[in-house]
Amino acid sequence: MSPHPHILIAGAGIGGLTAALALIRRGYRVSVLEQARELAEIGAGVQISANGAQALFSLGLEAALEAVWCEPAGKEIRLWSTGETWKLFDLGAVSRQRYGAPYFMIHRADLHRILLDVVQAAAPDAIRLNCRVAGFEQTASGVTAICEDGARIEGDALIGADGVHSRVRNALFGQMPAQFTGLMIWRGLVPMESLPQRMQRLVGTNWVGPGGHVVHYPVRGGTLMNVGGAIEHDDWRVESWTERGTTEEALNDFPGWNEDVHTLIRNIEVPYKWALLGREPLERWTIGRVTLLGDAAHPTLPMMAQGANMALEDAVVLARCLDAYDDVPAALQAYEEARRERTARLVRAANDNAGRFHNPALGNAEGAARYVDTEWQEAKVKQRYDWVFEYDPVTTAV
Ligand SMILES: Cc1cc2nc3c(=O)[nH]c(=O)nc-3n(C[C@H](O)[C@H](O)[C@H](O)COP(=O)(O)OP(=O)(O)OC[C@H]3O[C@@H](n4cnc5c(N)ncnc54)[C@H](O)[C@@H]3O)c2cc1C
Repeated sequence: MSPHPHILIAGAGIGGLTAALALIRRGYRVSVLEQARELAEIGAGVQISANGAQALFSLGLEAALEAVWCEPAGKEIRLWSTGETWKLFDLGAVSRQRYGAPYFMIHRADLHRILLDVVQAAAPDAIRLNCRVAGFEQTASGVTAICEDGARIEGDALIGADGVHSRVRNALFGQMPAQFTGLMIWRGLVPMESLPQRMQRLVGTNWVGPGGHVVHYPVRGGTLMNVGGAIEHDDWRVESWTERGTTEEALNDFPGWNEDVHTLIRNIEVPYKWALLGREPLERWTIGRVTLLGDAAHPTLPMMAQGANMALEDAVVLARCLDAYDDVPAALQAYEEARRERTARLVRAANDNAGRFHNPALGNAEGAARYVDTEWQEAKVKQRYDWVFEYDPVTTAV
């Protein structure tokens, strides 16, 4: 293989840009093909745990991230009705000591902007906008990405980092079956100053209740609170990051919930509604010179907060594999093998958490206390999360 193969990446999201940077840093020529006409500020909060942080830090982004992230002291569980509070786990110094990196919360647009700026500085012509990849052709010696407008871009490998509705995945394997989970999430950002002082805390909170849960955590240096409220709902099936709803609709979906939850919802600037679809992990996601990365490869429910982290891990492991193997198809196969089992386990763990967060036992205060004491007992929490946070994509075997 030439020392500098040309790698095509479909999608300039979190995973695509991280992969681009990891490859550019290793001397590869990269073309990122993005459907959007411009890369604007979009999305709300994402949580980056130690495993994802290791990937970003290995690319030299720690200082830029630190300027805009929020590093919470820990996470709490709160009961939907009474507001009773339990510790979920400590973060801050504990994450750094135990897992070797911080756990931080960040506006998706801030993370995206940092990645974009660094990629553009390192390779000004790498990103090609207004280029929706519709398919590809591959031979033994190369691959051609075909865009919707007919443009054809040739390279040595094609990485489908084109998100949950991936066209590259469809071209590889056909439409991936998806089942509506019966859940939707209200999400949005709340200006921290609009909340009462006692709610302006730098912790992550998971409100749990029968049929719903609400997660909130600070982002953008603590000036915004990111809120996501999941609720069982049968009549909203659009899986989108940009569909808007109204405050009134959102409030109506949480009747009887604690006043603090209503205060949060009332102060969301723009409430977005997102239907949750579940998908079984793929058995494989590589054919020859074409592979998938991030949500395209292993779309997940958000209940482990690992969608972005998996994309970051994938990006670094993929770049390491391309470096380690002499042949592109062998490198892509090694990448898939290094990632398949872990990502499938994470997708299943997120499905399990959905049942845990919404359990009917949470309906009354007494049953809830018993349920929380059992389900979120320290040993059980460690068992559920240690293996997730301990993983280091920079050193894991490839
Ligand atoms: C607009 C948007 C807002 C989001 N907001 C949040 C949020 O608030 N909180 C959260 O936790 N997660 C959010 N996510 C999801 C989160 O970023 C991903 O789940 C995670 O980071 C995995 O990243 P990814 O790179 O696999 O996919 P994504 O980050 O979804 O990136 C996929 C990229 O591919 C592009 N693309 C799609 N199809 C094509 C195509 N055919 N050709 C070329 N380009 C294509 C998309 O425009 C996008 O830039 C959002 C994603 C998007 C796209």
